[in-house]
Amino acid sequence: MTKYIFVTGGVTSSLGKGIISASLAKLLQSRGYRVTIQKFDPYINIDPGTLNPYEHGECYVTEDGAETDLDLGHYERFLNTPTSQANNITTGRIYQNVINLEREGAFLGKTVQVVPHITDEIKRNIRILGESGNYDIVITEIGGTVGDIESLPFVEAVRQFRWEIGPSNSLVIHLTLIPFLAAAGELKTKPTQHSVKTLLEYGIQPDILVCRTEHHINQDIRKKIALFCNVNVNAVIESIDASTIYDVPLLMLKEQLDKTVLTKLRLSHKNEPDLESWKEFLGRLKNPTSEVRIGLVGKYVELPDAYKSINEAFIHAGAKNECKVRVTYIPSEQLTPENAVERLKGLHGVLVAPGFGERGFEGKIEAIRYVRENNIPFFGICLGMQCAVVEFGRNVLGLTNANSTEMNEFTPYPVIAMMEEQKKIKNKGGTMRLGAYSCDVKKGTKAYGIYGKTHISERHRHRFEFNNEYLKQYEEAGMLPSGINPDNNLVEIIELKKHPFFIGGQFHPELKSTVANPHPLFVNFVAASLEYARRK
Ligand code: GLN
Repeated sequence: MTKYIFVTGGVTSSLGKGIISASLAKLLQSRGYRVTIQKFDPYINIDPGTLNPYEHGECYVTEDGAETDLDLGHYERFLNTPTSQANNITTGRIYQNVINLEREGAFLGKTVQVVPHITDEIKRNIRILGESGNYDIVITEIGGTVGDIESLPFVEAVRQFRWEIGPSNSLVIHLTLIPFLAAAGELKTKPTQHSVKTLLEYGIQPDILVCRTEHHINQDIRKKIALFCNVNVNAVIESIDASTIYDVPLLMLKEQLDKTVLTKLRLSHKNEPDLESWKEFLGRLKNPTSEVRIGLVGKYVELPDAYKSINEAFIHAGAKNECKVRVTYIPSEQLTPENAVERLKGLHGVLVAPGFGERGFEGKIEAIRYVRENNIPFFGICLGMQCAVVEFGRNVLGLTNANSTEMNEFTPYPVIAMMEEQKKIKNKGGTMRLGAYSCDVKKGTKAYGIYGKTHISERHRHRFEFNNEYLKQYEEAGMLPSGINPDNNLVEIIELKKHPFFIGGQFHPELKSTVANPHPLFVNFVAASLEYARRK
């Protein structure tokens, strides 16, 4: 029977429930258990697809095309197994499902209420993953902080669920903060005591407390927390600030979080965790033998969470190359033909980021012109690839005012245009070209050299595409379509013949980069940048 672990958060947000969940899952997986992680988000949007990255950070896209919370990216990067729509559920989706059932007449004669109808729907979504038969353990992370109005139905559903399946089949891990008061020179346990009291008011006794802290928690403090919060002292787990999120599984191993969990769930401790390749990755990450400076040109650069997966993909690719990747964020809005050289000089590679809308678009074009003309490695992702096509059209093919119709509907040369199937779509939510699509890579191209195979699959999130009416003109001038979707002929990868590394992808390779499988496009882009730095 599947066992269920719930992770709640107390005291404050941003304690890192996602990283703790992913780290615990990693330890259990490395002992041979089949584990998945699910996140419940208490907001009313059906999914984060329509949210501005400034509100919510990156929107992570799964294989099956769900637009989800960025924590799912951590789950995949740590576990190297794909997630799906079932791994991210919002309050909006729960209500939508219940209201649809009400309209169908499923509750005829009954008043539809938060308890039991909304909580039943939440419990159904918890069970879906467990009942798939694919997992021994399902970890469910409850977004928000205990005590928030919005997360109440989820907390109540957890209480009911635990009561239904019995204490040894589930447990609750509460993540909390132990602040250090510099003036008093002391770590304080009171916020944790209050947070656990709040959980108790809702009928939930946590089994394990993971205590986020900037200083080590000594045995006396552990005993005090245990006494006031009714947990065993070995269930008080220290989670000290780490220099990289990839250290956290090892820190949790040292605190024996995995053993405590397995004992409480009455699961065998099986083998000792096999973390050899993880440690090897950490060794490479922490002992780089070289360094490259890569510019990330985008319009959300003030908020690094907006480019979470790209940053993590650089960490994986850097470790693979035993090289420290220093990412410099360049706000595309500030780049002009006059200052581009000044702003971009000293970089060994430039990545132009995904994005939507006009703001900062022309700055991206300037960045691309500079790296194309100066043989600096270039990597364009989604909008970044589209910008490269526009830049080439304007400055090489002489198509004055060439553009994407997203930026200028009336451009004389619509080299990037809206996909046919997108034209009739009115609703904005969940209607882009989303999720995994296959792509054929042409032999003899740089892309083929990188992937080493002709059939690949990558994840998408866009409405616009390369306009095939211009394909011949581009090919003749040296911009090649090295990857094509076999089902509809959409151009998925472009590259320049006469450039050391100039590649754009209509898809998002960053979403598939994991610790175990760094993405080859990132690995090769970093290697090309390293090569450029060496030659300089
Ligand atoms: N705005 C572009 C489109 O919709 C690119 C989207 C993206 O970069 N994810 O096609």
